[in-house]
Amino acid sequence: MQTSQRKKLESLKQEISRRVEKAKADFTSLHSADWSEQVTERENEEVLEALINEGEAELAQINQALERMEAGSYGACVRCGEPINPERLQALPYTSLCIRCASEHD
Ligand SMILES: [Zn+2]
Repeated sequence: MQTSQRKKLESLKQEISRRVEKAKADFTSLHSADWSEQVTERENEEVLEALINEGEAELAQINQALERMEAGSYGACVRCGEPINPERLQALPYTSLCIRCASEHD
């Protein structure tokens, strides 16, 4: 199970990295566009910025999950230490909180 979770995390990491890289490239090309198009571009810019921020936050969580895997603490809630529900880990392989702590956190 750990092995498949690791593979899942690795492929998720690649997928999100690509998405973030693409958003960053689009963001850069937006900035070199003409002034006349600035209004619609501002909206795109916000969307891209959100994409980049979300992606980077996800990547950070994935890296932390991989580190916990190395340390052997993967699958345990970082807050209360209880095991995280396997179904939750399947759906959200990089989660660091059990469902109870996550709902308290939000
Ligand atoms: Zn917890």
